[in-house]
Amino acid sequence: MLNVDLHCHSNVSDGVLPPAAVAEYARKAGVDVWALTDHDEVSGVATARAAAQLQGMRFVAGVEISITWANETVHIVGLQLDENNPALVKGLEDTRSGRDNRGREIGRQLELAGIPGAYEGALNYVDNPSLMSRTHFARFLVEQGVCSSVPEVFRKYLAPGKPGYVEHRWASLQDAVGWIIGAGGIAVIAHPGRYKFTPMQEGVLFDEFKQLGGTAIEVVTGSHTPDQYPKYANLANSYGFLASRGTDFHAPGEARVDFRFLPPLPGNVTPVWHDWF
Ligand code: AMP
Ligand code: MN
Ligand code: MN
Ligand code: MN
Repeated sequence: MLNVDLHCHSNVSDGVLPPAAVAEYARKAGVDVWALTDHDEVSGVATARAAAQLQGMRFVAGVEISITWANETVHIVGLQLDENNPALVKGLEDTRSGRDNRGREIGRQLELAGIPGAYEGALNYVDNPSLMSRTHFARFLVEQGVCSSVPEVFRKYLAPGKPGYVEHRWASLQDAVGWIIGAGGIAVIAHPGRYKFTPMQEGVLFDEFKQLGGTAIEVVTGSHTPDQYPKYANLANSYGFLASRGTDFHAPGEARVDFRFLPPLPGNVTPVWHDWF
C-alpha cells in the first residue's frame, strides 16, 4: 500500500527543516506520495518538487490557508494546485500581510504577562520574514525555560483566552476555496476535529464548504486523536467528502506523530488521491 502524506510544513512557514530536507526526511520514513502544505505560502513548492523527484517520491503541490469562519480560525488545505497561479499567489500574500503586526502585538501581550523580548526572540526562529507564526513564539518560550514543550506554550500562553493570544482576521472560507479551485486544486478541511465547534456548527461548515466546491476532509492526521479517525471517516462518508491523510509534520521530535507512526486511512472511506495515478 502507498504511504501518502498530504500535510507537512517546512521552514517556509513554521516547520524547521528547509523543503528539500523535509522531502528527504519523509522519504527516509517511507513516504511514497508527499505534499508540502506550508501555511499561507507556496514559495517552497518548487524546491520541494525537485527534491521529491530526486528522492523518487511522487509530489503534490499544496498549501494550508488560514481562514476565519464563525469567529474561529480554520485551516483549509489545497492540493494538486498550480503554485504560480496569480490569484492564489496574491491571495496568500494578502493573508500573510498581517502576521508581522500580529507578532508585535503577541510580543507586547507576553511582555505584560512578564515575558519580555518575545517578538525579537521569536524572530530568531523565523526563516521566512513574511511568515511569523505562533509556533515561533512557542519555540522561543521553550528556549527561555518558560515552558517545557511547544504544546504546553500553546495551552498556557497562545490559545484563545490565554495571555499571549491576539485575535486575528484571516481570509474567508469562500476566498480560500476559490483561490485553490482557481489554481486547479482540490480543497480539503484540515484537522476538523481540532476546532471548538458544536456538531451543528461543524455541519454548517461542512455544508458551506461543500457548496463552495470543497472536496475532502482530513481523517487521519497528526492533529487528530486516534478516536477521531473513525469519527471523521464516518462524517466524510455522510457528507460525501473524500478523505485525506497527513502527519502535519513540523520538526523532528516536535511532531505530534512522526511519519512512521501515522496509521492508514480507515477502509470505509474514499481517499482523496483515489483517481490521481
Ligand atoms: P498561527 O498560524 O501563527 O496562528 O499558528 C498556528 C500553528 O500553531 C499551527 O499550524 C500549529 O503548527 C501550531 N499550533 C496551534 N495549536 C497548537 C498546539 N496546541 N500545540 C502545538 N502546536 C500548535
Ligand atoms: Mn503549523
Ligand atoms: Mn493546521
Ligand atoms: Mn499544518
